[in-house]
Amino acid sequence: MTVDEFISALKNAGMTLTEKQIQQFEQYYALLVATNEHVNLTAITEKNDVYLKHFYDSLTVAQYETALQDSHGTLIDVGTGAGFPSLPLKIAYPNLNITMVDALKKRVNFLQEVVTTLGLSGVTIVHGRAEDIGQDPKYREQFDFATARAVARTSVLAEYTLPFVKIGGEFLVMKGAAAEQELADGRQALATLGGQLRDAYEFTLPNGDTRFVQIVAKTKKTPKKYPRQAGTPSKKPIG
Ligand code: SAM
Repeated sequence: MTVDEFISALKNAGMTLTEKQIQQFEQYYALLVATNEHVNLTAITEKNDVYLKHFYDSLTVAQYETALQDSHGTLIDVGTGAGFPSLPLKIAYPNLNITMVDALKKRVNFLQEVVTTLGLSGVTIVHGRAEDIGQDPKYREQFDFATARAVARTSVLAEYTLPFVKIGGEFLVMKGAAAEQELADGRQALATLGGQLRDAYEFTLPNGDTRFVQIVAKTKKTPKKYPRQAGTPSKKPIG
């Protein structure tokens, strides 16, 4: 996807980027490839691939949860890596307040550099593991939305994300072709952690790849024992 194709695909979806936003995506791309020379951020570096598989793909969630588009709400992105999906969402929807969590310090340092260079405000960067941060009252059940991309299967991800979501908020699941199986395997985890599936959407990226966005509403408080100790959710998923 060229930059022009990216701009027009978003326009077709009802989102017109300003010159400033187009430039911010360019700056983000330049920093990503430059930093990737010495810090392992992503295997995807070719420009058209980054625009499709990182930038465009990250923004798809806002087509299905349209409240992200003009919301002053709070979104936490768990295991954000080089900033996906939350940084493209922040560039496209500047009113959104984002919190980015990652366990790797080098990636967190990169995120800080991007935020400073692009002049973004309303961004919090947290270095640590979701299991530890999810027990911190400063972050626990404080967010309107939690999401994560390419971090873990849904049963595990539910334990990383749902503790952050306030009642009435949502866990936005972004997945590829295995989404429905992962959801079926994760049903008990979602229920245990206070989540309830509200909507599910299947769509394709412009290159034909299958994607899903599943919206899980937080309807009950997450029991205090979750998230369990770091490492336990992935070793012993609920269910
Ligand atoms: N979300 C990004 C994306 O879609 O490109 C990054 C995906 S990368 C495959 C997974 C990231 O999740 C890594 O940066 C890793 O450090 C982070 N991660 C994995 N488990 C985590 C945990 N329990 N808490 C915080 N970060 C975690």
